[in-house]
Amino acid sequence: QPIFSALRPQQPDALLALIAMHRADQRGEKIDVGVGVYRDRSGLTPVMRAVKMAETRLVAQQSSKSYLGSDGDIRFTQLLGELIFSAQSVDDDRRFGLQTPGGTGALRVGAALLTRAMPDARVWVSQPTWPNHAPIFAEAGMATLTHPYFDAKTGGIAFDLMLTALDEARAGDVVLLHGCCHNPTGTQFSVEQWQALAALCSLRGLIPFIDLAYHGLGDDLAPDGAGARMMMEAVPAALLAYSCDKNFALYRDRVGALFVQAPSAPLAEMARANTLALARSLWSMPPDHGAAVVRMILDDPALRKDWRSELERMRTRLNRMRTALAAAHPLLAPIARQRGLFSRLPIDPQTVEALRDHHGIYMPADGRINVAGLNDANIGRFIEGLLPHLE
Ligand code: PMP
Repeated sequence: QPIFSALRPQQPDALLALIAMHRADQRGEKIDVGVGVYRDRSGLTPVMRAVKMAETRLVAQQSSKSYLGSDGDIRFTQLLGELIFSAQSVDDDRRFGLQTPGGTGALRVGAALLTRAMPDARVWVSQPTWPNHAPIFAEAGMATLTHPYFDAKTGGIAFDLMLTALDEARAGDVVLLHGCCHNPTGTQFSVEQWQALAALCSLRGLIPFIDLAYHGLGDDLAPDGAGARMMMEAVPAALLAYSCDKNFALYRDRVGALFVQAPSAPLAEMARANTLALARSLWSMPPDHGAAVVRMILDDPALRKDWRSELERMRTRLNRMRTALAAAHPLLAPIARQRGLFSRLPIDPQTVEALRDHHGIYMPADGRINVAGLNDANIGRFIEGLLPHLE
C-alpha cells in the first residue's frame, strides 16, 4: 500500500476560514462575532490583571522546571476542586482530579477512561453542540449519538424531547452536559431540569460527563457551578471537564482539569491509576505555566479578589450586550435569558452570507454569534444590519 494512501481530505476549520476572511476584509466598519474568545469593549482579549501579577511572581520565584507528574500541579487541582465543589467534597475518597491541557484534554482523557472502563458505552450529545465534542469521543473510540436540545422557536431547551430521546440510552451510556453557558446556544438547564437529569442518570445507570468551560461567565461562580455540583452529589459516577481558558483568559496556555467520581473508593483508585496511565500515553504531563498561574491566583486572597472582580466585569459586559440585543426585536428576546459568550440568531445561512457581504458582519453559517464581539461602538450597526432579516 502506498505510503499515507489511507489518509482522507479533512474539512477545513470553518472558524479559521472565517478569521481569514475577516482579516482580508478592508472595510473599517467590519464586525467579528465569529471567533470564540472574550473581547473587552475595545475589541481586545487582554491578559487579566491577576494573571499578569501571578506571572511576574512566577518568573521571579520559580527555581526549577523539573518534571511534576502526570497529574500535573496537585495544589492547582485541589484549589480548583474547592472552587467548583467545596472543601469537604474535594476530600471525598470516591473523587479525584488531575490537571489536563485545557478542557479539550480533560474531555479527551475522560473519554479514553470511559471507553477503557466500558467498551460498549456510547456518548449522547446535544444537537447542536460544540463541534469538537464528537471528534474527541470518536478518537477515543466511543460512538456519538445526538439528542434534540435547542428549541429555536422559544430560544430555550426542548427538554421533553431531550428526555424522550434519552429513553433510548442504555445503562453505562454517557450523557455529555454543558455545565452552564451552552456552546453554541447560550441556554442553561434550570435547577429543576438538573434534578430531572440527575434522577434519570441514577435510575437508568447513565454517566453524566459535565463540560464546564465557562464557569463564572454566566451568572457567577456559585450559580454557574450549581448544576454540576448537584449532579455529582446525586449520582454514583460522573466526570467533569473544566477549562480555565475562558474564565482566566489563558486560552493558549491550555489550562484545564478532569474530575472523576467513582461508585466507591477502590474503584476511584482504579480509575485514577488508569487515567494517569492514559494521560502518560497522550501527553505524559500537562504544561505547567498556566496552571501554576491559576494556582497562585486562587491561593492568594488579594489576587483571587482581583480575578473575581475582573471576571465580574466581563460577565456584566456580556449580559449588558445581551439586554441591548434582546430589546431590539421580539425574535431576539431570548438572548437576554441566555448566558455566556454565545447565542444563536434565528437566521438562515443565506442571511449570514448577506450580513457578511453587505455589512461586514462575520459569523459562522449556523448563525452563532459571540456576544463579546459587540460593544457600544458597533452594536447599533449590528442591529441595523440584522433587523431587516428578521421575520
Ligand atoms: N468545551 C466547550 C463547550 C468549549 O466551548 C470549549 C472551548 N471552545 C472547550 C470545551 C475547550 O476548552 P479549551 O480551550 O480549554 O480546551
